[in-house]
Amino acid sequence: MKPTLRFVLGDQLTRGVSSLADIEPGDVVLMAEVDEEATYVRHHQRKIAFLFAAMRHFAAELEAEGIRVDYIRLDGKQRAASFGQALGEALKRHKVARVVVTEPGEWRVLEMMRGWEAEFGVPVELRPDDRFLCGWEEFSELAGDGPTLLMETFYRRMRERTGFLMTKDGKPEGGRWNYDAENRKALPKRIEVPPRPVFDPDETTQGVLDLVARRFGNHFGSLEDFDYPVTRHDAARYLRWFVTTALPDFGAYEDAMRQGEPLLFHSHLSALINCGLLTLRECCEAVEAAYRNGKAPLNAAEGFIRQIIGWREFIRGVYWREMPGYGERNELGASRPLPDFFWTGETEMNCLAQAIGETARNAFAHHIQRLMVIGNFCLLAGLDPKEVQDWYLVVYHDAYEWVEMPNVVGMILYADGGVFATKPYAASGNYINKMSNYCGHCRYDVKQKTGEDACPFNYLYWDFMARHAERFDGNHRMDRTLATLGRMDEDKVATMRKDAERFLDGMVPAGDY
Ligand SMILES: Cc1cc2nc3c(=O)[nH]c(=O)nc-3n(C[C@H](O)[C@H](O)[C@H](O)COP(=O)(O)OP(=O)(O)OC[C@H]3O[C@@H](n4cnc5c(N)ncnc54)[C@H](O)[C@@H]3O)c2cc1C
Ligand code: SF4
Repeated sequence: MKPTLRFVLGDQLTRGVSSLADIEPGDVVLMAEVDEEATYVRHHQRKIAFLFAAMRHFAAELEAEGIRVDYIRLDGKQRAASFGQALGEALKRHKVARVVVTEPGEWRVLEMMRGWEAEFGVPVELRPDDRFLCGWEEFSELAGDGPTLLMETFYRRMRERTGFLMTKDGKPEGGRWNYDAENRKALPKRIEVPPRPVFDPDETTQGVLDLVARRFGNHFGSLEDFDYPVTRHDAARYLRWFVTTALPDFGAYEDAMRQGEPLLFHSHLSALINCGLLTLRECCEAVEAAYRNGKAPLNAAEGFIRQIIGWREFIRGVYWREMPGYGERNELGASRPLPDFFWTGETEMNCLAQAIGETARNAFAHHIQRLMVIGNFCLLAGLDPKEVQDWYLVVYHDAYEWVEMPNVVGMILYADGGVFATKPYAASGNYINKMSNYCGHCRYDVKQKTGEDACPFNYLYWDFMARHAERFDGNHRMDRTLATLGRMDEDKVATMRKDAERFLDGMVPAGDY
């Protein structure tokens, strides 16, 4: 019998992935470092290095098991400009009965795969990605199918379905579903942030770092001090470190920010989960076990599990439900070009300079920096949703379209008109000041509302509200804010709007990146 060709993509690096489930001796695993995928947007250098290093190590582990791997390197003799070309060439090298592949995380790639059977004249079996807990088709059963969706409804059903943090009689652990209100503390001055394990590049990773420096050295970001896990073994070690050391404080300080501390108590696991080195089940199981053994409080364990089986699964469901066309939405008619400082980090707004600078260094910023600093600015400034999507997809090492797009279009920009956000996540400088120490190091004064020295978030906030007051009239979650705006002195509002105009017109557009 002819063997099977099993095509494993760069974010499917899990031994148990559905495409490898029934692998037989003689089958061939195809993996490819594809030019098009590395360059269709100009990904952060660190993101490319992380993925290629993880792919090469995964391939080596399969080979060590005796599995035949056909691995196409970006710098090898065989080259592949696209997934289709990689497959076409591989089918010439191997006489196979069929191709098996796990469904991808992107609409564009799925459409491509659906055409392969006709293009190559070989049966192509597209298998569901069962590393997620909720399939695309089942999403509406759990989340509903109305025009708007509530993450909390979906999350409760996911808790019941998975049994995570449930009591034996089917109740949520601790009597409540959600401890979000206990996840919003500012960081006390004296609290120490624990040092993290570092993973020095081995020869394979160093080879990739050299390749990326040569081929993609003009992309955004830096490769310096690359120390992230790229193997299953190291990823599992990083998860253990998180659960034993950072998790106990993760819950309380989940929304906090501190200058010079890019990771705080966050897990920093997203890239490892998204590419498959860790499964979400093992992460949630480890966190639940820490809670049950008295090693982590409930607000931390519930907070983490909510992010994974709640937000992460929900966001993916929204992506597939709303595609295609989701990326084109622009409910608020935002059209301002991305400013240059998104690539240089050179802005006098300290919170943004810190978050963008850390993004350039680490290909990472934690959730509140992405949402309430950078995202908040994109919303208030009315930046073009397509340009913002491209930026978020380029700069973070965990970014894939299925997760980046709903977070940008739906969560930060309200560009989908509120598919799952009941109101825009807009905030003035006061929020950033409460949750961080950035303002103490800033040239702007967070207490001032108008004038050259006023924090731009303050006047941009009210300018945004005034610009969209009509659109949000009738949204009860906006009632108080709009009532405050209505009570404001007209001259004061006019001055803030002038300040906003001056500031926004003074931004230098980034141009083509
Ligand atoms: C504008 C914007 C863009 C984002 N883009 C991405 C992206 O491209 N890739 C990505 O993985 N996450 C994205 N997120 C979600 C979130 O910010 C990151 O998952 C998180 O910061 C990763 O850090 P961590 O692993 O330390 O997470 P933790 O704070 O430790 O949280 C635990 C895990 O929960 C999951 N999670 C939490 N929030 C979300 C969410 N909103 N959507 C999906 N998963 C979530 C992640 O897997 C994360 O590892 C984005 C959020 C925003 C607001
Ligand atoms: S004063 Fe305003 S711009 Fe400066 S750090 Fe604070 S919130 Fe950011």
